[in-house]
Order: sequence, then C-alpha cells, then structure tokens
Amino acid sequence: MTEPTDAAARKAIKPVICYPNDTLPVAPLGLYQAARQTAVKSDEILVPARDAKCFEVPAGHFFRISSVEGPQVGDLNLWNAHDLNERFYSGKTRALHGTHITTGERMWSNFPALRPIATIIKDTLAWYGMDEFGGSVHDVIGTRCDPYTGNLLAGSQYHHCCHSNLTRALADQTGMSLSEAEPFVHDVLNVFMCTGFTRDTGQYFMKASPVRPGDYLEFFAEIDLLGGLSACPGGDCGSEHSSDTVPCYPLLVEVFAPIEGALDGWQSPDVNGYDRSHGR
Ligand SMILES: [Zn+2]
Repeated sequence: MTEPTDAAARKAIKPVICYPNDTLPVAPLGLYQAARQTAVKSDEILVPARDAKCFEVPAGHFFRISSVEGPQVGDLNLWNAHDLNERFYSGKTRALHGTHITTGERMWSNFPALRPIATIIKDTLAWYGMDEFGGSVHDVIGTRCDPYTGNLLAGSQYHHCCHSNLTRALADQTGMSLSEAEPFVHDVLNVFMCTGFTRDTGQYFMKASPVRPGDYLEFFAEIDLLGGLSACPGGDCGSEHSSDTVPCYPLLVEVFAPIEGALDGWQSPDVNGYDRSHGR
C-alpha cells in the first residue's frame, strides 16, 4: 500500500473530543458526600470468590464495594430495580467520561432513558491515575469474562466466568430461569481492574490490580437499583482469567441509608428528554 503524498499532514491533524462533557449536568458531589457522612449502614453482602451476588440499593442510598482478604477485581452490573430493561450502558459512559471512571463521574443507563443511575463519590485508588503503559483502574472498556469467548479461543467449558456468575445471581434474585436472566446481563464496570490499550497494536491489556484489602469504590444510587457483582475468576487479573488457577478473594458490598433531610432538594434524575419521534 503506497502512502499518499500528504500522509504526514493527514496524520498530524489534532484529535477533537467526540463528546465535550462540559454541558453534562454536574453531580452535586458536595451534597452526596455530606449526606454520606451521616448515612447509616443498612445492608451487607459478601460476594464469594469466583461467584456473584445481587444486592438492592434504593435511590438516595449509597453502596461501597471493598477489597477484603486479597487483591480482587469485580465485574459490576446495574439495573433499574423496577425495569431490568433499563441498565448500565458501558459504551455511552465511556464516550462521555473516557475509558476509566472515578470520583464525580457517573454510570449512565441505556436508551431511551440515558440518565445517570449511579455516581462515584469516593475512590481510594484515585491516586493511581494513568501509568506509563496507559493503564488505569475501574474501566468501562472490557465487556466481562464469559464462557463463549473462552470456547471460541480455547474450546473450553468454564462456568465461573463473570457472565455466568452474574446470570446465576440474577436468576436466583428474580426467580427467572437462566435463559431468561442471561439476556439482562450486560457489559460491566470493571471495579478495581487495571487495564488499557497497547500503543503499538491497540490491543486491550490488563495488569495486576493495585487494589489492596481496605480499598473501596463508593457510589450514590440515583435511582432504585438492583446490582450484580461478580468476584472475577481472574483474581487481581495479573495473569489470566476464565480458569480456576489464580488466587481469588471475596468482595464486600455495603449499603448505607441517608438520614432524614440529608438530601433535601435532591431528586432522582428524569429519563432523557428526546421525544422519540425519530423524524416521523
Ligand atoms: Zn471476570
């Protein structure tokens, strides 16, 4: 393939941000963090290693995902507790906030709602920033480890991938069959996972998570949420996933209720304002 004569000039064009986010509604982080100070713990769920659990978080409550026992990555799904068709939209969250999210950034739901369903209010790994490889934590790049890709690449039948863990957990939580629950499982927020893209080939990479016991990521629930969290069989995701060979640890989910009056003036976000006529 011969390069055009102006190849260098074309490659030198500076990129523009696809979705400048300075008109995004800003999360009232001060209000949330103040309300969190007096919030009272109302629930606790321990997610076993290589398995998943569901948990409920009412709108206006907080939830914290903590590393306990050892470095461990978690795959998080979020649904509208009253309508599982509204769920976290990893791709649009990535387009709005970038490849990794941290304090003040939000998890957005799919069309047609397209609204913030959770806001990160504290991230003990915020110090990590971006490393020399272009790696960072809490990505919205990866999809979730799943048995289909394992089968495609290695002919395996592995049942404790995050996709299967989340499918079982959602089925257990709702009474649905596995085949009914599976289509609701969606691309995740990779909690604590350290990932990026290689500069030379653009490939998705992972490296051992910097998370240690005691680290946590804390969220404000913007709507009534049903969450699903899988303690990934990849453990700290420093070597491989989709197997039982690496050390894995549980993850702790805690829910906190705000005290009366702590969120005065706050209301759950409305669904998106587009009229849905699509030009007809
Ligand atoms: Zn996984």
